[in-house]
Amino acid sequence: MSLIVVGTMAYDAIETPFGKTDRIVGGSATYVAWSASNFYQPIKQVSIVGGDFEQQEMNELADRGVSFEGVEVVQEGKSFFWSGRYHTDMNTRDTLITDLNVLAQFNPQLPESYQDCQYLMLGNLAPAVQKSVITQLKNRPKLIVLDTMNFWMDIALDELKDVLKMIDVLVVNDGEARQLSGEYSLVKAAKVIRGMGPKFLIIKKGEHGALLFYNEQIFSAPALPLEEVFDPTGAGDTFAGGFIGYIAMKDDISFETMKKGVIMGSVMASYCVAEFGPERLKTVTKEDIDARLLEFEELANF
Ligand code: AMP
Repeated sequence: MSLIVVGTMAYDAIETPFGKTDRIVGGSATYVAWSASNFYQPIKQVSIVGGDFEQQEMNELADRGVSFEGVEVVQEGKSFFWSGRYHTDMNTRDTLITDLNVLAQFNPQLPESYQDCQYLMLGNLAPAVQKSVITQLKNRPKLIVLDTMNFWMDIALDELKDVLKMIDVLVVNDGEARQLSGEYSLVKAAKVIRGMGPKFLIIKKGEHGALLFYNEQIFSAPALPLEEVFDPTGAGDTFAGGFIGYIAMKDDISFETMKKGVIMGSVMASYCVAEFGPERLKTVTKEDIDARLLEFEELANF
């Protein structure tokens, strides 16, 4: 059994009110893998990088049980590059640059060793690529989770709607849920989006927590009020990684386990935002995770 993670492995330039970095490792699959590997290994990565992607970054992930057989390296190409600037409230950001680079030619071929996939995390990436991974799997995984963003809604809405029919859980933020559904009320938005395919829907609300929708049920998870948010980049992917990693560890896709998965996602995201890039995720321990889980329990217990 294995967990497949599909997404970008990238370099980012980030500007927050607290600092600026010109080039730091990032990408949706990078954050998902760092987060999920705290709960479940092996992780089988599917991505594409250029010759500029540092081997050291892959080695560090390999030490966490991540395999790269499904990662294409285009020696003469450049890795995906994204640049963003956060507003003072840190809840909103402007994308300054999205350079697809090698991503523009990505056509993943799943290795035979990936066919034992039970849990599939389709991290933020072109919807057509996400779909191609699903269709290459001979046996349907137990659970398919998909993350996406406004960028793909803007340029590939039909492909996105196509892949939504094939998945179980969609993870988006509140703005994206509104854009996708055309509804302002998140409850109405959830109905519309679940009508597009996914049985489960998670709507992240930044510093206000997350909602999980399933049938007529809604689970509301708090976000831990943090004194300092240094860099929110990757928090969404880290959330998704904690969610699917926990579910894969439990090997259970009930609503009850998903609720706890949402909390684990929130725990991991709360660590991600503490430093630039995935740096804090590299050092987080099981004790850290357990301690923060307790804080979450106390926060909403009455
Ligand atoms: P998040 O803050 O969770 O939305 O994730 C930010 C990460 O997603 C950054 O490390 C970027 O490299 C990556 N990213 C930004 N835009 C895209 C995109 N259009 N597709 C895939 N990954 C992206």
